Amino acid sequence: MTMETIVSSTAFARARAYILAGEVVAFHTETVYGLGANAYSDEAVKKIFALKGRPSDNPLIVHIHRDFDLLRLIDFDPPYAEKLRRAFLPGPLTMVYPSKGKVSALVSCGLNTLAVRVPASKTAQAFLREVNLPIAAPSANLSKHVSPVTAQHVLDDFGGKIPLILDGGKSDGGIESTVLDVTGDVPMILREGLVTREMIASVVGECGVYAPKKGEKPKSPGIAHAHYMPRCKTEYFSDEAAARACYEEEIRMGGKPYLLCEHEAAEHFNGLCVLDLGRTGEEMASRLYALLREGEKRATRLIGIEPKKKGGAMAGVLNRLHRAFGAEDGTNQTESS
Ligand code: AMP
Ligand code: MG
Repeated sequence: MTMETIVSSTAFARARAYILAGEVVAFHTETVYGLGANAYSDEAVKKIFALKGRPSDNPLIVHIHRDFDLLRLIDFDPPYAEKLRRAFLPGPLTMVYPSKGKVSALVSCGLNTLAVRVPASKTAQAFLREVNLPIAAPSANLSKHVSPVTAQHVLDDFGGKIPLILDGGKSDGGIESTVLDVTGDVPMILREGLVTREMIASVVGECGVYAPKKGEKPKSPGIAHAHYMPRCKTEYFSDEAAARACYEEEIRMGGKPYLLCEHEAAEHFNGLCVLDLGRTGEEMASRLYALLREGEKRATRLIGIEPKKKGGAMAGVLNRLHRAFGAEDGTNQTESS
């Protein structure tokens, strides 16, 4: 079934009507575009999973406007969580609380916790205010594919399948929110993002980073799923000489290789086809998904080179890069988000 997909930066009343009718609407956020539905409705939430082809064990984040009463949704609010909200919200930080069980059980895939985010994007805030409902929303990409940072990326995956995209321009953050478990005595990062462990620790003193032990069911099911995968052949190297050899091999085979690397490395590949991630962690986060999508369109083989830059947003960038390229410490064992 296909329908017309409207792209608009102002159609908030229309978005509200679609959401109340149980439809799915894509919207800009400062991290990536989201695919949103009424979190109270089983049927609407089911549509998100069906559209994306998302595995049914990968829970969704609920999005609320800045004045929405969080306590309607969560059962317990640890004292340190308030400090974190004051420091970082609205913004790219999702917090996982004990759930009150008010939204559809499908949102958290049967877990007794609920992930909540207050996005900073003006478009997202206007949309959330207009509907005044918690909106369940994963990234607006087909399962496993690279996350979308423009309305065009959403159209590429869902054109003709959803009625409306609320266009807020490019998502400047560029990688998904930090997911932080606040159900314990100490906050624990489940997914790295632009709000870093150091930033969280500077507000509340301590912050852990969760890594599932071998064989353990991960606390954040999404991290065990393949994700961000470009639709072309890919290779990943930490060594520039090996990457260049792979590039030349692809040329000999009659292919069209592209290198994806940080700016310092890009300077060594004068004359070759290079997608330049930039210099800082924030710059690399902001460019990563658009370059992966550009790469899959242009290249027969996309060759990633591990950036050497450390600190800040690099933990989040490296995590996405490893998963996009299926590299060693990425965690793509099964399906995806
Ligand atoms: P996405 O919406 O595609 O950015 O993915 C959402 C991420 O949030 C996934 O990694 C999920 O595993 C994680 N998440 C959502 N809800 C929960 C929850 N209740 N507990 C732990 N992780 C969650
Ligand atoms: Mg996603």
